[in-house]
Amino acid sequence: MTSVTLSDLHKEFGDVVAVRGIDLEIEDGEFVVVVGPSGCGKSTTLRSIAGLETVTSGEIRMDGRNVVGVEPKDRNVAMVFQNYALYPHMTARRNITFGMKSGGSFDDDEIDRRVEEAADILDIADLLDRKPAALSGGERQRVALGRAIVRDPDVFLMDEPLSNLDAKLRIQMRAELAKLHDELRTTTIYVTHDQTEAMTLGERVVVMNDGEIQQVAPPQRLYDYPANRFVAEFIGDPAMNMFPVTVERVGDGYEAVHPEFRLPLPAGEGLQEAAGSAAVLGVRPEDLLLASEADAAPGTFEATVQVTEPLGDSLLLECAVGDGALKVHVSPRAEISRGDRVELTYDPDRLHLFDAETGRAIYHSDPDATAAPTVPGDDRADPIDQD
Ligand code: ATP
Repeated sequence: MTSVTLSDLHKEFGDVVAVRGIDLEIEDGEFVVVVGPSGCGKSTTLRSIAGLETVTSGEIRMDGRNVVGVEPKDRNVAMVFQNYALYPHMTARRNITFGMKSGGSFDDDEIDRRVEEAADILDIADLLDRKPAALSGGERQRVALGRAIVRDPDVFLMDEPLSNLDAKLRIQMRAELAKLHDELRTTTIYVTHDQTEAMTLGERVVVMNDGEIQQVAPPQRLYDYPANRFVAEFIGDPAMNMFPVTVERVGDGYEAVHPEFRLPLPAGEGLQEAAGSAAVLGVRPEDLLLASEADAAPGTFEATVQVTEPLGDSLLLECAVGDGALKVHVSPRAEISRGDRVELTYDPDRLHLFDAETGRAIYHSDPDATAAPTVPGDDRADPIDQD
């Protein structure tokens, strides 16, 4: 097993800067997911680690050894792709073992033993004599995983391996990948544009945008303490609601002032810095609630319901607030229709303020958030332990 360290990694394709000097430390045995929108540089980062791209500058270390310039086959990594990359004329077994004999590092008995073991783990023992055309998408992806497993690599590199599967199979394979990692504990770097996949699979999640790392943190920490507006809006569905406000000092405390409301902000680090300046107030849809359903209302404001979406376990309202819009989850059987005016309040421990210009997080109202996360940062600490 192996640690992977990226230091000031740059990759340019002519005029296109795909990766802009990223630093990342992945521990031995960790499952790290790299997530971000299309074109943010995640595949390029993964392919650079695999040795399939020549980096422009920077270092890639595996267990301390700089592998820049080392041939892909000598890095002992195994890559799993979105499109499975199986040979159609070969059986599953041949696809799994292809290249192993010519390499000469394993004898036939050892190869057979490894195939049986991988087939057992992946539950494909009965499918080994079939060709890819006779396999479902999920089965093909298991064969592709089998090919990675038998090589017993130091690192698994996975590039959107589930995105060709239908939604149900994707969820099933997601659980199987997590189980596989629990069993093998092989260092895994997994790339996806799907934030749900990132949150459910990653022990830590790396959010990238425009060739740069925005934040690195365990999934819940990323969700609760986004380091900037990009992360706040990218992680979570529906996205965090955002309101342009100014922060005003009122008596002993502070308020977020918007043309449609004034909301008291619980005391916390960062408010002093924000006072008097333009900021963006962020509140997740599940952290807003109907004032009529709340035990206490620290501050309230009115909104006009424009769309109601019954989701079964909640009712999602899309509302207008002045020129702006917001989404809020309310109880599933709330009697609310389009056009209604609703009075909303919020969980006082779940407010966020972002710098209006830079987008940097300047305040999280959660009393456990003793310090705003750094940007970009290797932000693995539990906030409660930070001070
Ligand atoms: P996606 O989710 O769409 O795969 P990504 O985050 O993996 O996106 P990359 O494939 O790493 O993004 O691409 C990063 C940037 O580099 C993009 O602007 C892309 O157009 C560019 N790029 C990638 N490969 C090449 C190439 N071979 N030649 C030129 N530009 C490239």
